[in-house]
Amino acid sequence: MSTPVQLLRPAIRQLQAYRPADYVPGLIRLNANESPWRPPGDDSRDGLNRYPDPRPAELTRRLAAYYAVASDTLLVTRGSSEAIDVLIRGFCEAGRDEIVICPPTFGMYEVYARIQGAAVRSIPLLRDRGYALDVEGILGAWSPSTKLVFVCSPNNPTGNRFPDGEIRRLCAGLAGRGVVALDAAYGDFAANDPMHALLADQENLVVLRTLSKALGLAGVRCGALIGPTDLIDLLGRILPPYCFPTTSQEAVLRCLTPLNRAQLDERRGTLIAERDRLMAALPRIAGVRKVWPSETNFLLLETSPDSGTAGRARQGGVLVRDFGWDPLLPGCVRVTVGTPAENDRLLQALAN
Ligand code: PMP
Repeated sequence: MSTPVQLLRPAIRQLQAYRPADYVPGLIRLNANESPWRPPGDDSRDGLNRYPDPRPAELTRRLAAYYAVASDTLLVTRGSSEAIDVLIRGFCEAGRDEIVICPPTFGMYEVYARIQGAAVRSIPLLRDRGYALDVEGILGAWSPSTKLVFVCSPNNPTGNRFPDGEIRRLCAGLAGRGVVALDAAYGDFAANDPMHALLADQENLVVLRTLSKALGLAGVRCGALIGPTDLIDLLGRILPPYCFPTTSQEAVLRCLTPLNRAQLDERRGTLIAERDRLMAALPRIAGVRKVWPSETNFLLLETSPDSGTAGRARQGGVLVRDFGWDPLLPGCVRVTVGTPAENDRLLQALAN
């Protein structure tokens, strides 16, 4: 098997990591031009006057344990959004390389590619096969300058998860010439999570995770990129040192205690049950033509164009995401699953 490191931009393969100031517990720190005093109101464990760990080692260990992977295969990022950015900056030479996306899907893959000056090739999902991945289409479109394909599974906004065999087929077809970035932002809500099995036998696969969804930490901005050790090491050099704030590190560490995890699991169970309740109730609403099956914390509705579904929800005090602007999603509205009371409000608003 060949490592995806050979596909990185040469500048990244040769990048020397910045050498941050030493940190040795117990020794006085006059080596980083910090203030010796905590700022007013600082009740953090480590002191906000001090730079955080240049690479958040404790957090990396805890997240690696949470996702049951080795620490040196996980890069902590500021949201999984930053993991998308790091991948594109690492693999795509501006003005030359390209990525593949499979719309309708998460919009930031394309935005980050444009910012980097990478081209974007779209191989749409196959709607009449339940938004299936067009593996043959992706393999057929691949060129020597194509570096990365983003596969969002379960997919935002369609809600479906692609069969493991399809991901395997894609990885095998791209071995030695491309990397599959599996964005598993919604994996926590899925019927099963194939991440470990896939990572174990696909060397050109990286997986993106986020703490913004099932763990309820969107405001903390924490995500993770999981993949081969040598690749994770090199991609980590793209991130500035000290980039992960002390406050965010401490918030994640507080959240991941065993007691809190029991509560998080319970909430995840509630969201899944509520998703199923909405799945049953929404098709009975006037103007709703179809509700797509979902393994996420949202549902994609197809509505008749004149139904004004998003407007009716808003009038009833509930915001939903209107995809009417997207030619691939005519009449579509995405509804995030909320608390039982919030979901009742939505159903009430749409009933009017
Ligand atoms: N991937 C997908 C598929 C998403 O839907 C989102 C957020 N909506 C993200 C990544 C980014 O999430 P975050 O940066 O909060 O981790």
